[in-house]
Amino acid sequence: MARDTGNQCKQCRREGTKLFLKGERCLTDKCAIERRNYPPGDHGRGRPRQSEYRVQLREKQKARRYYGVLEKQFRGYYDRASRQEGVTGENLLRILESRLDNVLVRLGFAASRRQARQFVRHGHWMVNGRRVDIPSYQVRPDDVISLAPGFKGDQVIRDATELVSVVPAWLQADHDGLTAKVLRRPERDEIAVPVQEQLIVELYSK
Ligand code: SF4
Repeated sequence: MARDTGNQCKQCRREGTKLFLKGERCLTDKCAIERRNYPPGDHGRGRPRQSEYRVQLREKQKARRYYGVLEKQFRGYYDRASRQEGVTGENLLRILESRLDNVLVRLGFAASRRQARQFVRHGHWMVNGRRVDIPSYQVRPDDVISLAPGFKGDQVIRDATELVSVVPAWLQADHDGLTAKVLRRPERDEIAVPVQEQLIVELYSK
């Protein structure tokens, strides 16, 4: 399966904002955005040209990198969002936010989406009592998430719970039992992502 294995801090520097791709390191002064907040490469410190297209493109790239989704899949999410009722940009963010790998991060069960994806691919998480090894799995209201029996690395997950201070209201987490429930679909103001989704809609609507 294709996956994005590029340098994560470079991705944040390219977008000029913290995308929180590396877990605990992102909360320390070792964060590359704290140290070198300019784009990577020889011309990183130059002034970028800011066309309308460029602004829209960067916003799409930011969202794609934040959720760790490759271009083809991201476009597929957009197409699905545009077919749904309601505001396309919000639908898109709701689909991205409902990915199992993202939900595990929001719950505090993974320090980063990359770590969440690894644990999911290895079959360490279950939804409604069945192993799910697809990181893009879309959670639904009333889904119950739990660790698969026999997993020996629960201390890693308990460590990750220390990084999360607040679990979004659409999710319910039991950090002692390492189980969780999806209460409902997220509202836009509950999706903490540094993206203006309308710019992505404008880009794809051209
Ligand atoms: Fe981004 Fe985290 Fe690297 Fe900072 S430490 S640049 S937030 S991935």
